[in-house]
Amino acid sequence: MRRRIIIVGAGPAGLSLARALAGSDAEITLVEKQPHEALADPQPDGREIALTHASVRHLRTLGVWPLFPPDEIHPLREARVLDGGSPFALAISSPKRRGAPLGVLVSNHLIRRALLTAVETLDDVTLLCGREVRAARADRDGVSVQLDGGTTLNGDLLVAADSRFSAVRAMLGIGAETIPVGRSMFVCRARHQRPHNGVATEWFDYDRTTAMLPLAPGMSSVVLTLDNEQARNLAAMPLEHLGPQLAALTRHRWGAMEAVGPAVAYPLTITFSHRFSGPRTALIGDAAVGMHPVTAHGFNFGLAGAMRLARGLRHAGDVGDARVLRRYAVTHRAATRPLYLATLGIVRLYTDERRPARTLRKAVLRIGALPPIRRALGAMLMERGLPS
Ligand SMILES: Cc1cc2nc3c(=O)[nH]c(=O)nc-3n(C[C@H](O)[C@H](O)[C@H](O)COP(=O)(O)OP(=O)(O)OC[C@H]3O[C@@H](n4cnc5c(N)ncnc54)[C@H](O)[C@@H]3O)c2cc1C
Repeated sequence: MRRRIIIVGAGPAGLSLARALAGSDAEITLVEKQPHEALADPQPDGREIALTHASVRHLRTLGVWPLFPPDEIHPLREARVLDGGSPFALAISSPKRRGAPLGVLVSNHLIRRALLTAVETLDDVTLLCGREVRAARADRDGVSVQLDGGTTLNGDLLVAADSRFSAVRAMLGIGAETIPVGRSMFVCRARHQRPHNGVATEWFDYDRTTAMLPLAPGMSSVVLTLDNEQARNLAAMPLEHLGPQLAALTRHRWGAMEAVGPAVAYPLTITFSHRFSGPRTALIGDAAVGMHPVTAHGFNFGLAGAMRLARGLRHAGDVGDARVLRRYAVTHRAATRPLYLATLGIVRLYTDERRPARTLRKAVLRIGALPPIRRALGAMLMERGLPS
């Protein structure tokens, strides 16, 4: 039996995999460069994660779902996509049952905190915090990673879960498609005058995209894709001045606004790894697929990948078995590549200000409004009927 697994990165993907492998007779070491205090008490980072039904099911299976405060789970009843100031709206709701939510929104820091709590109770996981991987090697015989301070860990499988800029991926000689978008995503919670009714609204102006994600009554997350400098300037504004700015940027559709914060600007880079596996190696989370957040699938993919890999590893005599790792790589690629490419297409279409692109945008919305396409979009957002 060869069942020593080293996971690098205790972000949402690495923690999900460690939790999913619990009780599988594997010896798991999770290496994380941040100190334990930062992991145990993560501060709000402005990211509100839209979870699909498949992700909710996975989080229930992992025992993580009950760790979310119930009043911090916000149902997403409908998504409406507009084109600039045009009154036409593509409305996407649950294709299954009238009134069933499309998904739910939970803050990223609450997901990270709950996952860590679920992992820290496990006897088969050793968490090494405040330790950075400086070198990694993996071949048919085994794997080893060198940590800052000189410690070397040896194992039978190395899993890279160390972000879209994965250093481990580079150390193992695996390349990635890397697309700097040249824009940032600005996020901030805000209170507003008019109700959101649980509807997420997204629209495309000619110099930016805007989304309002419904949270508690009278509160939404304002999400703007802007050029880098504009996003940085907005994030640096005192909160008391930011509210009126956000009201203007959202065309006063929700009335007066008060910024609650935090206001954060995330520069955007999209990545897709050339391979998701190699000799005694697997890539999960953003290290495998670094999605653009506009289609809200980065963590959903990370969690699905962790579950998929754990399923394969659970009964493997040798966790470095090439067939198990290849099967994970092939199925995860097939499950993620279509939406990754579709998202790339959306991003290109909506950042192209030439007249043909603008006309095409309107046509796409109207085609999307056709009932069969609208139903398919609903199913995709909910991840029903898609392989998980
Ligand atoms: C604004 C925004 C909104 C988003 N909205 C959604 C959404 O609605 N739905 C959704 O599904 N996803 C969404 N996402 C994406 C989601 O947040 C990410 O996909 C997810 O957090 C990635 O998790 P991860 O564990 O793969 O990587 P990360 O969260 O990047 O974690 C990687 C970890 O590895 C550690 N690490 C890195 N290098 C090393 C090293 N050398 N040694 C040791 N440790 C290391 C890091 O410290 C970190 O803790 C959004 C993202 C953004 C920016």
